[in-house]
Amino acid sequence: MAKAGTEAHSNTAAVQATNDDASASKLSCVKKGYMKDDYIQLFVRRPVRRSPIINRGYFSRWAAFRKLLYQFLDCQGDTDGKGHTKKQILSLGAGFDTTFFQLQDEGKAPYLYVELDFKEVTSKKASLIESYSQLRDKVGGAISISRDRGEVLSDRYKLLPIDLRDVQKLDDIIALADMDPSLPTFIIAECVLIYLDPDSSQGIVGWAAKTFSTAIFFLYEQIHPDDAFGQQMIRNLESRGCALLGINATPTLLAKEKLFLDQGWQRAVAWDMLKIYSDFIEAQERRRIERLELFDEFEEWHMMQEHYCVAYAINDAMGLFGDFGFPKEQQHVLNLSSSPP
Ligand code: SAH
Repeated sequence: MAKAGTEAHSNTAAVQATNDDASASKLSCVKKGYMKDDYIQLFVRRPVRRSPIINRGYFSRWAAFRKLLYQFLDCQGDTDGKGHTKKQILSLGAGFDTTFFQLQDEGKAPYLYVELDFKEVTSKKASLIESYSQLRDKVGGAISISRDRGEVLSDRYKLLPIDLRDVQKLDDIIALADMDPSLPTFIIAECVLIYLDPDSSQGIVGWAAKTFSTAIFFLYEQIHPDDAFGQQMIRNLESRGCALLGINATPTLLAKEKLFLDQGWQRAVAWDMLKIYSDFIEAQERRRIERLELFDEFEEWHMMQEHYCVAYAINDAMGLFGDFGFPKEQQHVLNLSSSPP
């Protein structure tokens, strides 16, 4: 691949290829026992073994995402007395993510699961879903798959192509997907918005705030472009043609929160992955995965985790999400116990 030189350079094919990277890394974790995913192997042509630090990083990303997603799926409204609130998930730049298939196995799939990505990516995903009965069967009965259009349509699952920068097309696409904006909705943007220009990211976040009145917006991406580690991280991605076009507009945790609040979300919280690893991911899970591989890159691990974050934003018209999110007292308790007598 051509070197991008010093100018900020982003090209579509290279950004799409970050999906193959993510899939290969997830498979590497699965093979080492960090997490279970019976489907990701179907999406990886050339398996690779990642270093322990990369495996641990993907594990913590996955564990944080899963914990917040389950919180959302487990929230119950009073809507039908017996606590069966219909819910939906909208995944932006879903790539080859397999969460839908796993939730089906776990009996936790929501009423509707919608995935969007560039057509090049959705076509490949559609064709893999068509080829593998393990995937096709999970999508369910009346299913229509078009590799050419990059579409999979069934009652409970839709995969559709879009360039997310065409923000004005989002209304059409969710109508096409039969989404009901009044239902509680979990929106996923994992390593996606950071590749877009800030106007597009703001447009998407603002559109989502206006469209979904009871919703969680889950964001996972890079922060802190300004220190040495951040500069190197940016250079590495730029040299692959994947400039982090959004990082200077939201370089800190506060800036990530502000992105959501400025665009009309009611609440927003951002934590870096270092804090998430120690204060949110289950201690038992940490102990389990820390035994899987020899690990001595502690300094590098700390720096890396400080450069990734999870932010979530909440709109809560139905009053479902009072308990949603990171622990609220934890920080306070830790501060008290670590302050000098
Ligand atoms: N969310 C997935 C994939 C991350 S890779 C995961 O976490 O595993 C980033 C994905 O975003 C790629 O699949 C890429 O094609 C998609 N993407 C980036 N820019 C996009 C755009 N403008 N429109 C649609 N999809 C986009």
